[in-house]
Amino acid sequence: MAAVILRGAGWDGETTVAQLSLRGIKKRFRDTAVLHGIDLEIGDREFVVFVGPSGCGKSTLLRLIAGLDPITEGEFVLNGTRMNDVAPSRRGIAMVFQSYALYPHMNVYENMAFGARLMGLEKPEVERRIAETAAMLRLEPLLKRKPRELSGGQRQRVAIGRALVRKPDVFLLDEPLSNLDAALRSEVRLEIAKLHREIGGTMIYVTHDQVEAMTLADKIVVMNNGRIEQVGSPRDLYETPANTFVATFIGSPR
Ligand code: ADP
Ligand code: MG
Repeated sequence: MAAVILRGAGWDGETTVAQLSLRGIKKRFRDTAVLHGIDLEIGDREFVVFVGPSGCGKSTLLRLIAGLDPITEGEFVLNGTRMNDVAPSRRGIAMVFQSYALYPHMNVYENMAFGARLMGLEKPEVERRIAETAAMLRLEPLLKRKPRELSGGQRQRVAIGRALVRKPDVFLLDEPLSNLDAALRSEVRLEIAKLHREIGGTMIYVTHDQVEAMTLADKIVVMNNGRIEQVGSPRDLYETPANTFVATFIGSPR
């Protein structure tokens, strides 16, 4: 089998940079404050994993970065440009959801083509990108199937493929493995790690699974109640947790 060697988020020689700054990000829904001021720098090609209990604001933060919800206060800056008011389709950011969110009436090929067409890409370019992505994620035999004819793991690979076809600079993955059984979970987890090695885009990944966080992350961000408790490498957090909350959450012996 021919090896597929891909480099940089632009893949074929184009190199892109994706550095994100979150500055004092706050989010309120009506009277409810959900994020209380998030400050974080994310480096180019970094794999950052957000962990924290259910309801602490992880998905909300990803939705703000993707542009699916407005930021109440604070700034999101990507490569030096303020993104607060930039349309989601123009941010160079793709999001993969826990629930796959595939279009049920479209086959796999059409699902993958959809976002790329919205970006205004010509048909031959869309075809080329789908072929490349399908080879990488082993989706070729599935291209004509509808989502209901796929297993959970296959659906999630399609959802990842659909994001990849857009060649985003930044990938947001919100608990992408939580609907999969244990065996598939480790298979798709390895797939995501491989993808990051080969494509090199900046990855922002949400999970409540310590194993995923410890094995995938360059940097872990521990959240609680709409705030960041600690940021560090898996080893830092394990060996020197900032407080009891982090220690308990990461499962360190302290
Ligand atoms: P997590 O992903 O960490 O489990 P979320 O970001 O989904 O947490 O939710 C954080 C909090 O914000 C929760 O209390 C949730 O109920 C609230 N929330 C999320 N979306 C909305 C919304 N559209 N309207 C009102 N409250 C919301
Ligand atoms: Mg969530």
